[in-house]
Amino acid sequence: MEFYLTNANVLDVEKGEFYKTNLKISGKTIAAIGEEPGADAQTVDCSGKYLVPGIMDAHVHLVWDGTSPDPMGDTIKDGNYICFARGAAGALASLKAGVTTVRDVGSNDDCAIPLASAVNRGILQGPHILPAGGAIQGSYGHCPMIGFIANTEAQLIERIKRLKGYDIEMRIPPIHWAKIMASGGAAGLEDVGPCMYSPKELEALVYEAHRLNMKVAAHALSYDAIEKCVNAGIDTIEHGAEMTEEILLRMKENGQCWVPTVAVYKSLTESEGIIDDVIVQKARVVTENQKKSFKSAMEIGTKIILGSDAGSANFGPHPSAYREMFTMNEYGMSKAEVIRCATIYAADELGVGNILGSLEKGKLADILVLDADPLKDLHAFTEHLCSVYKEGALV
Ligand SMILES: [Zn+2]
Repeated sequence: MEFYLTNANVLDVEKGEFYKTNLKISGKTIAAIGEEPGADAQTVDCSGKYLVPGIMDAHVHLVWDGTSPDPMGDTIKDGNYICFARGAAGALASLKAGVTTVRDVGSNDDCAIPLASAVNRGILQGPHILPAGGAIQGSYGHCPMIGFIANTEAQLIERIKRLKGYDIEMRIPPIHWAKIMASGGAAGLEDVGPCMYSPKELEALVYEAHRLNMKVAAHALSYDAIEKCVNAGIDTIEHGAEMTEEILLRMKENGQCWVPTVAVYKSLTESEGIIDDVIVQKARVVTENQKKSFKSAMEIGTKIILGSDAGSANFGPHPSAYREMFTMNEYGMSKAEVIRCATIYAADELGVGNILGSLEKGKLADILVLDADPLKDLHAFTEHLCSVYKEGALV
């Protein structure tokens, strides 16, 4: 299958500007840019349209619905089969709305891994899913229902090897990501508390993961957890409520990345009467902190990528990436930079920058067609999305 998207405004995501050209799609990839189609070539006229790379969300929970006030309770009540079905529905909804890649950072019984496999094999339609399976945590952890309990160094290492093993069984590309819960959370009744693992345990986990070409994401809210995770060489810090300038600077020097998930906490602060007061109060503190540290991170130049925590309590249905984009913009980031966090930066950090994240020759044709300029208003993504291509196929 070969066709051209002609006369389009194509986003140069690095420069943050559109330029007029034709894209030639051949099979799954962008085969040429700027080539004139021949007389009998198949073309789609994109005059007046804006073409941007598919959006990437680095922090989702597909097994959760997002419309529920208690997704954790649902997980227990509904069991694995319903959660898997819910994940399939959330994946399809995400893809249709233009979120063409997600990293799933917590699912019950590793549900997101067979889900990723089913999409890869064409059994289900959905975005590219980079699944971390169940989130590694201690017995007293955060969200144990989507977790994998590991209390000792040996158990941590065994878990990493197990995740590595899935790539063969499940016929999916190497699972690049493991997720650990390094502290308690806001969306639970437990204390945020001290880091769940000792520096020695974290280092053992990171060493084993990196040795096997995997990367590690850590849910870390408390300063103690953030600091220990950064020191241990964790790749992405999720949430980072008690972030400091000194830590952001260290992360920049080490090339570590922050996935702030700002929108979900803001939404929790607006959920009074729907979810538990303790959670609303905790989220208020997180939101105030995040507003400040988000600004600091931009000034310092710490790597940030987009992660929404889609599926979280009372957050809304999948996808949630656009709400995160709006909130990042509201917290002071330019629209062009927000789009980079959701595309090229995310692709690089997630380990798929060679095939995704920008509209360049040789990359997979994951393309959104909009009929309004998203650099003028980010709502173009939600209000003016005309069509979505994944791997060159119209969704
Ligand atoms: Zn999460």
